[in-house]
Amino acid sequence: MLLLPALARNSTQLAAGCIGRLELHRLDAGAQSDAGEENEMASTRWTPDQAAMKSPQALFIGGEWVRALGERKLSVISPVTEEVLITVPEASERDVDRAVAAAREAFDNGPWPRLTPQERGRALIKVAEALRARLAQLAELWTAQVGAPIGLTRYAVAQAPELFEYYGKLIQSYPIVEERRRDDNGLVRVVKEPVGVVAAITPWNAPLVLLCYKVAPALAAGCTIVSKPAPETPLDAHILAECIEAAGLPPGVFNLVPAGREVGDHLIRHPGIDKVSFTGSTAAGRHIAEVCAGRLARTSFELGGKSAALVLEDADIGQVLQSLVPFSMPITGQVCFSLTRVLVPQSRAREVLDAYVTAVRGTKVGDPFEADTQMGPLAMERQLKRVQGYIAKGREEGARLVTGGGRPRGLDRGYFVEPTVFADVDSRMTIAQEEIFGPVVSFIRYDGIDDAVRKANDTIYGLHGAVYTADKERGYQVARRVRSGSVTVNGLIVDPKMPFGGFKQSGLGREGGIEGLDPYFETKTIYFA
Ligand code: NAD
Repeated sequence: MLLLPALARNSTQLAAGCIGRLELHRLDAGAQSDAGEENEMASTRWTPDQAAMKSPQALFIGGEWVRALGERKLSVISPVTEEVLITVPEASERDVDRAVAAAREAFDNGPWPRLTPQERGRALIKVAEALRARLAQLAELWTAQVGAPIGLTRYAVAQAPELFEYYGKLIQSYPIVEERRRDDNGLVRVVKEPVGVVAAITPWNAPLVLLCYKVAPALAAGCTIVSKPAPETPLDAHILAECIEAAGLPPGVFNLVPAGREVGDHLIRHPGIDKVSFTGSTAAGRHIAEVCAGRLARTSFELGGKSAALVLEDADIGQVLQSLVPFSMPITGQVCFSLTRVLVPQSRAREVLDAYVTAVRGTKVGDPFEADTQMGPLAMERQLKRVQGYIAKGREEGARLVTGGGRPRGLDRGYFVEPTVFADVDSRMTIAQEEIFGPVVSFIRYDGIDDAVRKANDTIYGLHGAVYTADKERGYQVARRVRSGSVTVNGLIVDPKMPFGGFKQSGLGREGGIEGLDPYFETKTIYFA
């Protein structure tokens, strides 16, 4: 969902869509309104305003801003200048122990799980209000840490308060207690109770919004939380903690321990954690699943993707480009549901490829703080190396590089890579099988609809997808055959009020919608004899 605003303007009209799970329904209007001021703060001049954060040098544990017990630091690096923007403390294992103890106390003995759903719902709506007052700052942080264009982040960051508001309202009407009758007319109450202390582990690409997909429903259900954001993007969660504090939630309900994977590993093994809610790579997800299986801790996983766009024979090329261009490489391709495999019928392979490549070649790549930038850099050096490795692999295995593949001219510093398109890709090639998480798209030809569906399903992933056709009902029938958690007919939509998640190795469970609230409950059955 990222290369958005700019590319959306290039394409005809972007009616709807999303970026890394960010809805873009109002993208055009939102993105263009602030054009003037964005040029004022190119990345070279941007520095985090520490004074505008309550305590970036502290952790938030048990309702207090506390010093980390370890000595290690996390460096936030600008993907544009490659310079350190800020250094903050990394939580240690002892800090994780403190945070779990605080969350445990808040859950076992504190008021939060015992409040009425209405009381919790109202508190969440206060968090939404506090977040709304910080949106400009949050958009800048996202752009500065990740390199996502400011036009996109200014629009998309609004999903964070929207999620709090949505779950704050939903919990107030959610059926917590349901009365049923047995065959002998005996009364039964089936009750939803919060699952307990939740470890929320999140990645760096959309750091705040992906965290809110977990924190808002978990809090609504009455859980307490230990949040471990990605070490590359620790700042957004600090502001969320400030907003939760400002909204008056009880101490220990939300605890923040920014750290890398070693400390994260301590968190997932902690016996005080009842549930791990994880968003990240499939590799890390598999590991966490194994660890949690040992004590049957509850888990949910939002993992990688390799989503296919199926262009059918009768598709309208304008309609295809409208969403395929912005959503094949959003946020420099660093969005889990990017449409990175384009399946085209033999008869139209050349036409669709030419039109797409022409649009992609027009992408303005550059400083994400500049208003007309459509694609920023990759988020970090290891991402650049990873993407370069896959581009080399695509060439080695015989795919035809049609455009891109190198560093954009004039951008000598920063983790930039050109938007890259391969054609004549065989579905079994590495670039068609593995998640690249960069701006690299593979065009794959098919022969007939059965071959198209077979190729769409020919990966370990199943997160999202698109079917383009003039016949919506046929699009629906084809969408039913695609083994993925969601599919859009003639576009790309991810609506946070609807379930999102993966088939196969793209995940387990759903986030968003009422389905995103259910996993934070246990079901208890109380019989009356
Ligand atoms: P990652 O798996 O390397 O890290 C994600 C988070 O998990 C980070 O906070 C990391 O520190 C932590 N982590 C890693 N190993 C851990 C362990 N053993 N114990 C505890 N914590 C651990 O992924 P990434 O590179 O940060 O993010 C990119 C990946 O995330 C991509 O695969 C992308 O598709 C996926 N993603 C999925 C969704 C979705 O909703 N399905 C959304 C965004 C990103």
